[in-house]
Amino acid sequence: LSHRLPVRSSGDELALLSTSFNSMLERLEESFRKIKQFSGDASHELRTPLTILRGETEVALRWAKTPEDFRKVLKSGMEEIDRMSRIIEDLLLLAKSEGGEKPLAIREMSLSDLLQELYLQGRSLAQPKSIDLVLHPNVTEEIRILGDKMRLRQVFLNLIANAVNYTPDGGRVEIALSVNDDDAIVTVSDTGIGIPAEHLPHIFDRFYRVDRARNRDDGGTGLGLAIVDSFVKAHGGQVEVTSEPGEGSVFTVFLPRKGPGPDATTA
Ligand code: ADP
Repeated sequence: LSHRLPVRSSGDELALLSTSFNSMLERLEESFRKIKQFSGDASHELRTPLTILRGETEVALRWAKTPEDFRKVLKSGMEEIDRMSRIIEDLLLLAKSEGGEKPLAIREMSLSDLLQELYLQGRSLAQPKSIDLVLHPNVTEEIRILGDKMRLRQVFLNLIANAVNYTPDGGRVEIALSVNDDDAIVTVSDTGIGIPAEHLPHIFDRFYRVDRARNRDDGGTGLGLAIVDSFVKAHGGQVEVTSEPGEGSVFTVFLPRKGPGPDATTA
């Protein structure tokens, strides 16, 4: 793909054609680069739990004697298997929607009802950490939009789970909802560890984690925010984040109230 057409003198129709051909090539190269990077990252992420699983099994076969020894290895093996399953589930979610296999199912839906449901679910995540999960009073006002309820559920569940996950015990997570002329605006804010400014541009990338070593054990796949970003964009919306290390983070999701518009593929 490295052969560009020479661009001839301006005004020439051929020159115009070459320029647009070259820009097409560049876009193609960029997609190939992304696919390559993505499959490399995905293989790497799956290889780590496999390596651990293999190493521990080998050690057990050689050294384990008592049922207790074997039980320990099986238990940790189970954790690695769960981890791989989560990564694969998340990858499938992304691939299905981006490959057009599962187009958005856009219906009229109540965003406020969805957030109230998620608040009840989120409480079971927050309670063990004594985190105060708060539904801002404005969420009780009925707000209806055109959206894919299943995907939006995933979006807000991921944001709420992250907020709880990255907030120390005793903190606070708040869910709020408002509207302007065009958009419904949902914010999920927390009093957690925050995200250093240099990481902010990358956190929506697949498999990107601010602190890989620390995060390995917390069950995250590094795909949660990539799913959020992909699903929100499919709705014609956008997600923004502001964060202060040590103070907390605010994720804001803008969703067009009238849905993604005619360009989107709807089921
Ligand atoms: P993960 O599965 O690791 O949570 P995500 O894609 O959901 O992956 O998030 C990417 C990274 O962004 C996380 O590893 C974490 O470092 C950071 N992050 C996401 N949400 C928050 C938050 N509310 N507070 C602090 N850091 C966050």
